[in-house]
Order: sequence, then structure tokens, then C-alpha cells
Amino acid sequence: MRVFLRVWKEWDLADIEKHLIVVGELSSECYGCHKIGMDSTAKQCPDCGVFFKYTGFRRKDPINYLRRVKDEDPGMVFIDFDDFKKATNKRDAKNLLDW
Ligand SMILES: [Zn+2]
Repeated sequence: MRVFLRVWKEWDLADIEKHLIVVGELSSECYGCHKIGMDSTAKQCPDCGVFFKYTGFRRKDPINYLRRVKDEDPGMVFIDFDDFKKATNKRDAKNLLDW
């Protein structure tokens, strides 16, 4: 039986920022250029041309969505969007202090 479990792994924050699609209840957004209104299973941003390697989601219950994306794109990495935002906020705060 195959299930989804969240795991902790070390990632390159800049790489995630560059290749992230953020999927909400109603629409999806390219994190890099803020293009909205894409299909949640889009593989590439139609505006900036970046290929999505990571998916962050704001849905409360994403399991059915995860299965659909995983069937179409087995290499897609799902990240916890709250974890990601915490990491970028922490980095941005540190950058402010280093000024
Ligand atoms: Zn884009």
C-alpha cells in the first residue's frame, strides 16, 4: 500500500523559489513571477517558462490532488508551504539584520 507521509529533508531554498508552483483552492500561482490562473497540474509556467519541480499547496485536504499530480508527474516534490514560508521569512529577517 502506498501512502503519503511528510518527511524532513534539507533543501536549497533558492532552487525551490525558482521552481515552485503554489496551488490554492481555486487557482495556482508561479512563485517566481506570480503568474496566476494556471492548471494545478501545469508542468511549466506559460509566462516565465520555468519548469516546476516543487508543489506547495494551501489546500486543507490535498490527498486526492497529490495522487492526481503524482500519477502525471512521478518526479514532482511536494513541499509543506508553511515550512517554506517560515524558511524564507527567517532568511529575509536575517538579511535585514545583516544590513
Ligand atoms: Zn512564472
